[in-house]
Amino acid sequence: MNAEQNPSCVFCRIVGGDEMVSIIHEDDEVIAFLDVQPLHPGHVLVLPKRHYKNLFYVPEELAARTFGTARRILPGLRTATGSRAINLFSPNGAHGGQDVFHFHLHLIPVPEGAPFPLQLPDPSAPVPSRTELDMMAARISQCIQTSSPQPNERPRLTGSDS
Ligand SMILES: [Zn+2]
Repeated sequence: MNAEQNPSCVFCRIVGGDEMVSIIHEDDEVIAFLDVQPLHPGHVLVLPKRHYKNLFYVPEELAARTFGTARRILPGLRTATGSRAINLFSPNGAHGGQDVFHFHLHLIPVPEGAPFPLQLPDPSAPVPSRTELDMMAARISQCIQTSSPQPNERPRLTGSDS
């Protein structure tokens, strides 16, 4: 366990080899292993080895590596389980059901005909108007611009007004 890991975190203990899991992939930054309480057989967790509370805190490049690993696992997982569908799920916050506060992706094979607890769309959910959707889209777009660094934005030159 190194300085970037949290000894009270079960996933950090797994990364450090202090907890036994059935590993299906490991490289220098990302690890994937079987969930010990699978929703369906072959339920996999994919996570960066470094401890970040959830996706809000993961550097974008490491998030991309984690999702890329999930993408590479999918075809083999489908073949191995015989499940025609594999759902991805990532809880990011206690209200969303996050119970281990170390960012992770669930890859959940769903056998044909098996129930899946999160069904979208929810038939009981209200359908907003186009105006309401447009207003929400505008609000989110504005918040994205004010809360994220713009990768293509060049630093403004100073002292060369003349
Ligand atoms: Zn951790």
